[in-house]
Amino acid sequence: MDRGPPLTLLSRAVRLRCPHCGGAPIFVTWSRLVPNCPVCGLGLERGEQGYWLGAYFFNLMAVETLFGVWVAALLWWTWPSPPWGLFQVVTLVLMAIAPVAFFPFSKTLFLAFDLWVRPPTENDFVVPHEVARRHRPA
Ligand SMILES: [Zn+2]
Repeated sequence: MDRGPPLTLLSRAVRLRCPHCGGAPIFVTWSRLVPNCPVCGLGLERGEQGYWLGAYFFNLMAVETLFGVWVAALLWWTWPSPPWGLFQVVTLVLMAIAPVAFFPFSKTLFLAFDLWVRPPTENDFVVPHEVARRHRPA
């Protein structure tokens, strides 16, 4: 099955859409995905237990990168007398907000990365009538 060029997968992921087809909505809440893409039927957990550990890793890397850039930028602009009080407050706020704000992006970006590295097979999809049945209220 075609997985699309990496930039297309990435572009769909940063817009919180299905990286495979660009379909939406794939989020029920800020942190919860639907089981399958409502357009193409791709199973968003791709059938593995602990699948989202990769997304947590992406989230951790993003937040650590943000922290590193923040520290480097602050020291660069304020050296030799950095405002340590401001540094502490902004760092606490940033480190509390960033992981939550980035959470859905970490999931779609990890899914895009996984689709790029491990292209989807027919087993990753449910047929459209099964998607419709899963989204219909009981
Ligand atoms: Zn899709």
